[in-house]
Amino acid sequence: EEAAVSLDIEPSRLTVTKTMSPKELPASKNLMFGRTFSDHMLKIRWTDATGWEAPSIEPFGTINLSPGATVLHYAQSLFEGMKAYRHEDGTVTMFRPDMNMKRMNNSAKRLALPAFDGNALLECIKELISLDRQWIPKESGHSLYIRPTLIGTNGTLGVAPPTEALLFVITSPVGPYYPHGFKPVPLHGTTEYIRAAPGGTGAYKLAANYAPGVVAQKSAAKQGYAQNLWLHGPEHWLTEVGTMNLFAVIKDKDGITELITPPLDGMILPGVTRDSVLALARNHTSGVKRLGGLPDVIKVSERPINMGEIIQSSKEGRLVELFGTGTAAVVTPVDRIGYNGGDVTIPTGKDGMGPISEPLWAELVGIQTGAIKSNWNYVV
Ligand code: PMP
Repeated sequence: EEAAVSLDIEPSRLTVTKTMSPKELPASKNLMFGRTFSDHMLKIRWTDATGWEAPSIEPFGTINLSPGATVLHYAQSLFEGMKAYRHEDGTVTMFRPDMNMKRMNNSAKRLALPAFDGNALLECIKELISLDRQWIPKESGHSLYIRPTLIGTNGTLGVAPPTEALLFVITSPVGPYYPHGFKPVPLHGTTEYIRAAPGGTGAYKLAANYAPGVVAQKSAAKQGYAQNLWLHGPEHWLTEVGTMNLFAVIKDKDGITELITPPLDGMILPGVTRDSVLALARNHTSGVKRLGGLPDVIKVSERPINMGEIIQSSKEGRLVELFGTGTAAVVTPVDRIGYNGGDVTIPTGKDGMGPISEPLWAELVGIQTGAIKSNWNYVV
């Protein structure tokens, strides 16, 4: 039992090798998502014989893999996405990274890859971000995107649990998703492909969930839509928007505002932003923290919703708004859904954002950027 503990990630064993050739920092206005990487990366190897080895921070660079590595053949790969924000006073924080660690461990278990102590990995990530601190852009709305990844590396072609793995973390400075304000996006309702199915892997952040989504995105783009909306089953249940969770706001027949998102039924990725939006809306209604601009009562529902209900509520003038949530853009308003050869129009608010998503977005971004104090911030 004691041995099992010592096999976990140990921040005290972290070694740091600094780069001899630091790169020039990119101009913030030219940043494109995921194109530029900071100077260093974190690596932690694992084998079934040794457990987690000593973590190391090294210059960002290529990694060597056997062409037989299971990651290359059977997609034994999973990842996370989170951000570090620089506050006005210089403090750097990550937003609810404990949730990303939990999700990463769940993904690892789903792939029979090794689990680990999430707090220990966070300690190591903290060191990485501190070392590359100057890579967090200073401009407002900018952040450092953090990409932890775990892959199976043993060079043996049998389909089996990996006996060797590599966990690495790279970081990338990013600008605001919507540099020119909120622009609602049109979605294409995808019924010819699926992202997830009951018993499948949609609730985990596996690399294998993403490659097959590219053709659906391509098809949506070809038809003039910004992203695709994953519709499930003959009832066309709304599940997710591209790589975001989905929310709809509908007024019920008594005029009560209902904030709806599909339940975590195994087909939905448990988004950190999704969870945060739900918590803020619930805290508003319960009085834990009221948010200006919202109706006094919001009914918060994690329940299935299908295209029939969207169309019906739209016809009856009860559909208030529809939006996606995710780390990258926080909130993305939707103005149209291409469905059954036609377009369903979705109402949007005056600045592109709807009346419910606006105050929730403002609170979230306020917390992330340090303007609003919250125990959701993890200080680096
Ligand atoms: N769904 C999918 C499929 C995603 O890839 C993401 C991005 N991680 C999300 C939802 C949103 O999750 P989060 O709020 O944690 O970024």
